Amino acid sequence: MKSLTSPKVIKEILEKHNFRFSKSLGQNFLIDRNIVEKIMEGAQVTQGDRVLEIGPGIGTLTQELISRGAKVVAVEIDKNLLPILAETLGTPPNLSIVHGDILKIDIQGLVNEFFEGKEFKVVANLPYYITTPIIMRFLEEYLPFTTLTVMIQKEVAQRMAAKPGQKEYGSLSVAIQYYTKPRLVCRVPSSVFMPRPKVDSIVIALDRLDEPPVAVYDRDLFFKVVKAAFAKRRKTILNNLTSGDLKEWDKEKILEVLESSGIDPQRRGETLNIQEFATIANNMRDIKLV
Ligand code: SAM
Repeated sequence: MKSLTSPKVIKEILEKHNFRFSKSLGQNFLIDRNIVEKIMEGAQVTQGDRVLEIGPGIGTLTQELISRGAKVVAVEIDKNLLPILAETLGTPPNLSIVHGDILKIDIQGLVNEFFEGKEFKVVANLPYYITTPIIMRFLEEYLPFTTLTVMIQKEVAQRMAAKPGQKEYGSLSVAIQYYTKPRLVCRVPSSVFMPRPKVDSIVIALDRLDEPPVAVYDRDLFFKVVKAAFAKRRKTILNNLTSGDLKEWDKEKILEVLESSGIDPQRRGETLNIQEFATIANNMRDIKLV
């Protein structure tokens, strides 16, 4: 089996197939064996696991997943990579390559077709341009994954794992931590990719929570509150909650909500924890009902 992390081997394969990297598809291929191992460890891939891979590229992670005995479905958008994948991976019985766009494809349909609707893991060196939308899709559509282990831009990973009061803390942190428990697996320098991207990366594992960490009566309202709270970072929670999607709420009502939630209206959104956002949203619903 050829080593798909060897720059020499990769160059030979790409030249043979006359392949040109597409910047707009976020094509930065891994050329470091250690990082491949770290991703496998982060995802805790074992024999018999069902794994959905996003963007196999020339098959570097895919090869490793297959050799560890996982049943792999890999979705690749670039048709120019399909003949390359056929050459590098062959046709093992535990692999299916699907040509498609992971943002648009019917993921639940794939899970039903290839994994009999059962739980699966996601593993990917994600193209940066789709990081947030694709992760949010897995979360919001309640797709039955157990862990998403993804290599993403360092700053985005830090935002996902940030805690109240940290400068990276924002609506993305709350959304990710509402559905999952993030684990930072390792930092990755830009030197381990071909071509080299401009940014550093982090491998992050998002372990799905069985239950959200807080009880929320109205999920849409909860996320509206979170979004509004971070809309203008310098504004107080009181001012932010009376603008944007919540502008039908007048100041007096919001003051009443904050008081009944035990939250100082002069605080900034970035100091509130997920429980406090839940309390605000739940009290808003109650007040609205009256
Ligand atoms: N997994 C390979 C590796 O680690 O070397 C390639 C990773 S590269 C960062 C991202 C891969 O995702 C590329 O192969 C790219 O063509 C593919 N890709 C980009 N956008 C996609 C999309 N919307 N759906 C599926 N694959 C996509």
